Amino acid sequence: GDIYNTDGTPFLGDPRYVLRRALQTAQEMGYTFKVGPEAEFFLFHTAPDGSATTLTHDKAGYFDLSPVDLGENARREMILTLEKFGFEIEASHHEVAPGQHEIDFKYADALDIADKIITFKMVVRTVAQNHGLHATFMAKPIYGKAGNGMHMNQSLFQGEDNIFWDEEKPNQLSENALYYIGGLLKHAKAITAITNPTVNSYKRLVPGYEAPVYIAWSTQNRSPLVRIPAKRGTSTRIELRSPDPTCNPYLALAVVLMAGLDGIKNKIEPPEPCDCNIYTMTKAEREARDIKTLPSTLDEALQALVADEVVKKTLGPHVLSRYLDAKQQEWKEYMTKVHQWEIDKYLTVY
Ligand code: GLU
Ligand code: MG
Repeated sequence: GDIYNTDGTPFLGDPRYVLRRALQTAQEMGYTFKVGPEAEFFLFHTAPDGSATTLTHDKAGYFDLSPVDLGENARREMILTLEKFGFEIEASHHEVAPGQHEIDFKYADALDIADKIITFKMVVRTVAQNHGLHATFMAKPIYGKAGNGMHMNQSLFQGEDNIFWDEEKPNQLSENALYYIGGLLKHAKAITAITNPTVNSYKRLVPGYEAPVYIAWSTQNRSPLVRIPAKRGTSTRIELRSPDPTCNPYLALAVVLMAGLDGIKNKIEPPEPCDCNIYTMTKAEREARDIKTLPSTLDEALQALVADEVVKKTLGPHVLSRYLDAKQQEWKEYMTKVHQWEIDKYLTVY
């Protein structure tokens, strides 16, 4: 729902209002913003007292079917329940890690999608509980296994026309599609503070698990931050691979859209697409192509946010200051706590 002050004016701290403002800007430029999210999650066992664990007996991997995939019964009920909520489910499958799943629903206008992401998470968690399981959207629950992403497939429409598609151009991508990518890459570091909002989010953004680390784009490869899936025509879309499902979808879609629109307004040219595996490139090769990296901690991302006028303006001063307060506090708490890793590493050595 939308939140209003008692005098009927919109409450400036309302994330839905932040997204509404961004969508208004798109509309003034003649665009409708459509989004298709791909939320991933784990299904873990609950302990006898009902509390959550990080244990799964499931040994399945990418696209495995039952009887290997023990979560399938729960997942089927999630889908049937989501359909009752008006979702059109397009795909559902086991993900790479044991106990990890993905359910995809049809793309739609961004505000509708942000609302749906909230409902989606609620349904998934509730149905899991009914099956004696704990569903988590935490970005990286298990070290050494794939994390949970929420890739955002984005397109801009003018009426029925997808403006990212141009049959005449290389890769059939319009000039505006390229500028939009340019905007996303330019603001990538600051965006990350919103799309990857927890300390744990940054443990997912490491090499080796199909999550992005480098600020680049590709029409072929899954390693960069921005990928252009093969579909063209009205399905032409730009997939941002950094977001994880712990983000606030209203704020995330607002900052992503405004970064892309900044690209279009200011004709920001993206670099050449990087159609090779960036993870196998050396540091020198990356530097030669000016490929930068995403922030590696929440703290670094917050610093990038503070330095980015476009992203700050999208949030507005009210949300920005509250967000920074909360997240800086979270970072400080993490930095001052003594973690199990430190005990294991140092207690007996020193
Ligand atoms: N789980 C991967 C991530 O963290 C994505 C896997 C996929 O390509 O669907 O983003
Ligand atoms: Mg996936």
